[in-house]
This record gives sequence, C-alpha cells and structure tokens, in this order.
Amino acid sequence: MFIDGQWLKCDNTFDVLNPATGEVLGQVADGDEHHATQAIEAAHRAFESWSRTTAHHRSSILYRAWQLMLERKGELAALMTAEQGKPLKAAANEVQYAADFLLWFAEEAKRAYGETIPSARPDQRFIVQHQAVGVVAAITPWNYPVSMLTRKLAPALAAGCTVILKPAEATPLCAIAVFKLLEEAGLPAGVVNLVTTSTPAPVGKVFCESPLVRKLTFTGSTAVGKMLSRDAAMQLKRVSMELGGHAPFIVFEDADPVHAAKGASLVKFLNTGQACICPNRIFVHKNVMPDFLQTLTSRIEKMRVGNGVTEGVAIGPLVDEKAVLKIDRQVNDARDKGAEVLCGGQRLTQGEFGDGYFYAPTVLARVDDSMLIYREETFGPIAPVISFDDDDDVIAMANDTHYGLAAYVYTKDLSRAFRAVEQLRFGIIGVNDINPTSAAAPFGGMKESGLGREGAREGLMEYMETKLAGYSV
Ligand code: ADP
Repeated sequence: MFIDGQWLKCDNTFDVLNPATGEVLGQVADGDEHHATQAIEAAHRAFESWSRTTAHHRSSILYRAWQLMLERKGELAALMTAEQGKPLKAAANEVQYAADFLLWFAEEAKRAYGETIPSARPDQRFIVQHQAVGVVAAITPWNYPVSMLTRKLAPALAAGCTVILKPAEATPLCAIAVFKLLEEAGLPAGVVNLVTTSTPAPVGKVFCESPLVRKLTFTGSTAVGKMLSRDAAMQLKRVSMELGGHAPFIVFEDADPVHAAKGASLVKFLNTGQACICPNRIFVHKNVMPDFLQTLTSRIEKMRVGNGVTEGVAIGPLVDEKAVLKIDRQVNDARDKGAEVLCGGQRLTQGEFGDGYFYAPTVLARVDDSMLIYREETFGPIAPVISFDDDDDVIAMANDTHYGLAAYVYTKDLSRAFRAVEQLRFGIIGVNDINPTSAAAPFGGMKESGLGREGAREGLMEYMETKLAGYSV
C-alpha cells in the first residue's frame, strides 16, 4: 500500500493469481478500514497545498507521468497479461490508452476556464470559477487494470484533488506499478494513496462514510455502484458511476454484412468479451443474416485461445471461475430454449487450458427474448445473434434494457444512421465504427449504466465545483 508517500507492508497479505495458469504471481498487503482511514487523512492533509498549486505545475507532473508510462509500456503490458490475462498486444494498447489520459488531462488542467456573466444590475459582476471538489475516493475494476486508474487519477489530479484508490482484488499489481510511476513523476506525499485489499466492502464503507471524502468515483458492476451511491448519498457526496452495459449491435438491411461481421468479431471478443462496451445483443436484419453468420463464425473459429503471452493468441482466459460458470449457464440456458450453437459452446479444460479459466469463443444464432443472455450482461466470449425485420422494432428491442452504455449501428443510409443515433438511449454510439472511445471523447452511460462522463472536457469538470461570486462594484 502507498499511504502519505510511504510504501507500507502489512502483516496480512493475499495472493495474486495468473488467470491463465493458476500460478501465484505475488502477495500484496491486505488492507482494511484502518488503512483506508489513514489514507483519507493523508489525502485530506495534502489537499490544502496541492489544491493551491498552479494548474501548470500539476500539468507538468502529469506530463512526466505520461512520459514514464510510455517508457514502461512493455513492462506494464507484460505485468497486465500475467495478472489479468489479456494478450500482450491488447495489453500494450491498453497502456497506450491509459497514457493518453495522463496526456489529455495534463493539457486540460490548463483549460479549466471560468466565465463572466452579465448581470441585470449595473453595479454587479458575476464571475464563475471552478475549484477542486476535495478528497476523492476511487474504486476500480480488474478488466482494464491500468487505464481505469488513469481515467480517474489524471482528471482528479489535474483539478487539484487528492485521491485514495482501491483497485480490484484481482489486479493490485498493476495498480502498484502505476503508483510507483506517479511517485516517480514527483507527486508530493499524500496526494495519491493506494489501499489494496481482498475484502472491498469495509473499505468502500469508510469511503462512503468519511466526511473528509467529497467525491466517490467508481467503475464496476451496477449492483455495487447502486449500493455505493446509496451510501454516498447520506452525505450528498459527488459521485461518478461507470457501470455495466448491455450493448446492442444493429446490422441494418442495407449494411455490408461481411464488414459488419468483421466489426462484431473484433469488438465482441475484445478482452475476451470482458468490457462494458462489448456487444451483448447482435441484431441482424433477416435478409443479411446468412452472410453475416457465415463471416462471423468463420472468423471466430480461427481465433486462437490461450495464454496471452503466446504469439498469435487472440482470446485469453476469463478472470475467474465465477465468470466461467456465469457464461456457461447462459449458453446452456440459450441452447435449452432453442438457440443454435454455431461454434464454441463449452469450457476448455484440456492440456494447456487445464489450470486456467478458458471458454471457447461462441456464436449463438436464433437467440430470443426468452433467454437469460438476452437480458443479462454477458462479460465473456459469447456472441448472441437475434434476427429482426423492421427498423422501429429493432430500436425498441435495443432500448428494452435497464442499461444504456454503448451501442453500435451498421448502415450505409445516412438518414437511417441519424434516426438510430437519435432514438437509441445509450451514451456512446459507434456508427459503422467499433472503437468510439478516446481520452478526448466523453465516456459514460445512461439509465443504470451510470452517472457522469470520463475523459474529454467533461472528465475534468467531474472533479470540480462551480463557484459563483457576485461582486458589488
Ligand atoms: P465485477 O463484477 O466487475 O468484479 P464489482 O463491482 O464486483 O465488479 O467490482 C468492481 C470494483 O468494486 C472492484 O474494485 C471491487 O473490489 C469493488 N467492490 C466490490 N464490492 C464492493 C463493495 N461492497 N464495496 C466497495 N467496493 C466493492
């Protein structure tokens, strides 16, 4: 753990495992509510001076952190592959994405512009300025164990906040590597603090209950996000919530089904299907269904599954046993209710797969709304395909979910694209595009997919208060 500028050891530790091999990668400190309180107090003490530094100064430290992260890209990617499982190339891409946030917010720090507003009174002036919200508590997930940290830390630091971060119990080693780099970049003691733990609930409770914490930022499941929001509401803390998704991927009648299937194969299997923006329901017009399914299945059959360190592996392990059991249940349920398994459909357990959490990449055709996979977030390498034949119906089906994070639309018809984008109740929409994310663009969901936006201009404002001064002159 890293508290008040010191690396702390702890009598209690927990093991970190490699999900591809089951091997123990290391032991990390198992912190508790006392460490969380200590870290909050350190962040509170540091806030006074850090929040008064200039935006230019904070920017220069973030810029240094960006440089360090790029220098260590290979090292960080190798650690991520061992700890989280994604293939090395995907891990290197994630480190690049993580570094992008450091650079973006190094730049945005200097652009936290205020405003002057004309008053109706001749003797009055309105001036609006933005100031750091205070101590921030951050809770991050295991699926993107480096970029989800910088997406929160970089804007918080740029704004002048101090932070305590609790990473996911599956990926604390990546968090430790990020904090080493931030320490080296020159952040003063107490400005960033790391509390690792195997039991998140008591630490989360301290984050919600401490009056010193003014903002809670969370990425993870909708269930935990709701619980934390409820607890944080007792003190009306600011919250940002980046929660689950159930992304529709719509292939309209006029789309090129081969191009769309290629896109679906890439974005569905991103991070072995363990991303909140992965398509969960692939709606394909009945006239282009045969070509779509043929291309999708042939691409997926060729995807190599294995340990992410092996050259050519596209699909790594799932994070743990629970994740394998969940998707296996969804696949069996769909099969029992009439879905057709075009490829995959089972857990992989033989040979090199024996000690890890591997599942064969799977395509399910003839999926319908009676199946669990139609309603539940999947988080695994399963592509469920649903047929439609009317534009209004498909938009209604796509919107028929509590989630509202990402959606994808394939069409060559401009009017259809505009209509779909306007009617879909999702925060991020890819139109003939499978990567509508960037540090420069706002990321976040509607409905139960969350509150607030990360990245972009909006990302900085999530960590700032708006202060109005009305002057009598
Ligand atoms: P996932 O299903 O993706 O693991 P979670 O929401 O369980 O999603 O985990 C995301 C993050 O939330 C992790 O850092 C995890 O430790 C943390 N977390 C899980 N349960 C709680 C809780 N009760 N209080 C605070 N944090 C929690």
